[in-house]
Amino acid sequence: MFLEARALPPIPLIEKIRQTTMGKFNERRIVSESLETRFVPSIEEQLRGNRELARRHRVRQSSADEFEVESSRRTLKVILSSWFCSCGKWMALGYPCSHAIAAILHQHLDPYDFVSDYYDSDCYRETYQDPVVTMPSQEYWVRVDDDLAPPTSRRPPGRPKKSALEVEMKVYH
Ligand SMILES: [Zn+2]
Repeated sequence: MFLEARALPPIPLIEKIRQTTMGKFNERRIVSESLETRFVPSIEEQLRGNRELARRHRVRQSSADEFEVESSRRTLKVILSSWFCSCGKWMALGYPCSHAIAAILHQHLDPYDFVSDYYDSDCYRETYQDPVVTMPSQEYWVRVDDDLAPPTSRRPPGRPKKSALEVEMKVYH
């Protein structure tokens, strides 16, 4: 998206990023207004697919919270209260994998209650409801005559050097 923009000088580059972001926000705002499902469409689709896969898993229950879920190739540990599955997807992605859904359905619970709020359609709508502000081209920008003062700090550029004492303390502690 910004490949050709990388060659631009700083102000046109920032403008290009702002314009692209404005367009994306507007597209997503329009999409968000027509959302009728509880979660955004891509997550609804993932949940449907995982639910379908979950039907092929075998669930062995250890407690109300812990399960072993056997898929065709392996056995996974699922802990409902911590949204944990040993495949790692539930924690990484924020919605239940097929193994987790197998355990959730085994407990007669609703997989929708185990999805991160970030995927909620209301959350999506809220994210894109405030537009990126519009800007005229540079010749219409208001000129500010104030001189830009240098920072008041006298710290030299770069990483501060550690004092010999600090280095010595690190070694002996
Ligand atoms: Zn899993």
